Amino acid sequence: MSTEMPSVFEAMRRAHRAEPVVSYEVRLDRLTRLENALTKAEPTLLTAMSDDFSHRSAQESQTFDIDVSFGEIRTAKRHLKAWMKIRRIRTPLIYKPARAEIRPQPLGVVGVIAPWNFPVMLSLAPIAAALAAGNRVMLKPSELTPRTSAALRDMITDAFAPDEISVITGGPDVSAAFSDLPFDHLFFTGSTAVGRKVAEAAARNLTPVTLELGGKSPAILMPSADLDRAARRIAWGKTANAGQVCVAPDYVLVPRHKIGPMADAVMGAMMRFYPQGAQSPDFAGIITERHLARLDALLSEAKMRGAEVIRLDGGTGNARKFAPALVLDPPLDIALMQEEIFGPILPILPYDTPQEALDFVAGRDHPLALYVFAEDRAEQNLWLDHSISGGVTVNDTVIHVGFDTLPFGGVGASGMGAYHGRAGFETFSHLKPVVRQVKWNGMALVEPPFKGLKARL
Ligand code: NAD
Repeated sequence: MSTEMPSVFEAMRRAHRAEPVVSYEVRLDRLTRLENALTKAEPTLLTAMSDDFSHRSAQESQTFDIDVSFGEIRTAKRHLKAWMKIRRIRTPLIYKPARAEIRPQPLGVVGVIAPWNFPVMLSLAPIAAALAAGNRVMLKPSELTPRTSAALRDMITDAFAPDEISVITGGPDVSAAFSDLPFDHLFFTGSTAVGRKVAEAAARNLTPVTLELGGKSPAILMPSADLDRAARRIAWGKTANAGQVCVAPDYVLVPRHKIGPMADAVMGAMMRFYPQGAQSPDFAGIITERHLARLDALLSEAKMRGAEVIRLDGGTGNARKFAPALVLDPPLDIALMQEEIFGPILPILPYDTPQEALDFVAGRDHPLALYVFAEDRAEQNLWLDHSISGGVTVNDTVIHVGFDTLPFGGVGASGMGAYHGRAGFETFSHLKPVVRQVKWNGMALVEPPFKGLKARL
């Protein structure tokens, strides 16, 4: 497949040069074809995702992968005309009566590299934004979801010409060659480590990149928080897709005397969500044996280093299920507290003063998301003002990602750039500033020779 890649890319580039102006009608037609293709492929994709994860409930796949993808496509269709409008810009006094405008323009051929955790949504949401902006797209889905990636490839090949959207499947070698292509924009979702490599490859071509990365997103229980509610929403955010969510709360900071009550409340909520423990049909499997072994190792090290571990029942049956675990007050130098967990393990850490909690978060990489639980406005604002993260949900987890009216992206080690709704359209457009000069204008005044100019100005 990889030998095909440059020729697919060149064909797209030629097609873009032949049709650099992409009308509203063409864009709308492409988005509609994507919507219809998704409607048709939905049952196949739901089965493929469940198979790739060894099990994932249709409801979960529907909510996170299918519905969010439809949402992005439909939002783009609804607002396309307004987003494409040429924007009149005020002319500064000294340049009047020249006119200024910003013209959103397609960039050309863009690359999208997707991870495995929400394999449909993290492929189709950027594609929808790129099509809305009038681009042609090459997609490289994850090799760890082979069935879903194949279903996506079939779905797209059926509905689009190869010079509109092409799907390139393959592992890290193919991915690396993919990110070497001189795209007009490269959109990467995945780990911070691979994001660095992608940024380096893109830099060699001076290709602009959007990096949607991961990291350790904290949840903070402030003194005024409703503990039971917080525990329930953290338990949900941590166990959705078995914790394999980029914006899952990675760990939770709680006032020292509330560690016990918090652990009880989180475990209580998990038991209500999953009455048959890890074997519950609503609880997803772990993507591969290797990822499962990694989670086991994280937990073993925590136990070996003396941390208390409380665990939901694992049961027997599907061996790729990993029973959710709480780890109380673990040492900070273990892998669990150094790496993004990306699984259903929740460290619960004590703090003595809010300042200590702020310092804890500020002393680490900027997270992708931050969750503050507080009834008191001043406690909420303390975090909003004094922490930097990609996004924030106050008194809940994960849900800010679903707002197509908000840009979604990271900051620093959790990424750069943003998408969703209008932000996605702008990411994949060149917002071209244009000035139209008029015949008779006073700017001739600044042309040399400058004799006497000072006096006139
Ligand atoms: P990953 O970085 O291992 O892989 C992502 C993609 O990059 C895959 O398609 C893979 O084939 C490709 N890839 C691998 N090596 C490459 C290379 N050298 N050059 C170019 N591409 C390469 O990530 P993953 O394990 O699939 O996903 C989990 C990570 O993604 C977590 O860190 C998670 O937080 C992050 N994530 C972020 C978001 C977000 O929106 N910010 C969403 C989902 C996942």
